[in-house]
Amino acid sequence: MPHAFKKPCAYPGCPKLTDEKYCEEHKKIVMQQYDKFNREHNKNKKYGNNWRRIRVLYIKQHPLCERCLQEGRITPVEEVHHILPVKQGGSNSFTNLMSVCKSCHTKIHQELGDRPRGSQISTEKT
Ligand SMILES: [Zn+2]
Ligand SMILES: [Zn+2]
Ligand SMILES: [Zn+2]
Repeated sequence: MPHAFKKPCAYPGCPKLTDEKYCEEHKKIVMQQYDKFNREHNKNKKYGNNWRRIRVLYIKQHPLCERCLQEGRITPVEEVHHILPVKQGGSNSFTNLMSVCKSCHTKIHQELGDRPRGSQISTEKT
């Protein structure tokens, strides 16, 4: 194998030459990190642990019901609404979230045509 085809390993600070992107040693490390990232990424697609953290962060940044605010009322946030429901492919990204109080949340879902089960929508709504 001519030396000319080899280039330095892409791992920062590694001087080893390789004909792939990374040397043997770093290929393993990078693949492991990639696997881990993928697993966590997939997990986060659903609610999962991360949702709680996102929700807390969002509430910190949006401590008032956004719908009440639009109507000139100051009401503390009680729930976080997904503008596009997760079931329909909505994400937990801040642009898809909305701080709401319970009564606005119920109204939003009524307007969306979600049938409340019993007299009240369950607290696990999106
Ligand atoms: Zn390396
Ligand atoms: Zn409200
Ligand atoms: Zn909702």
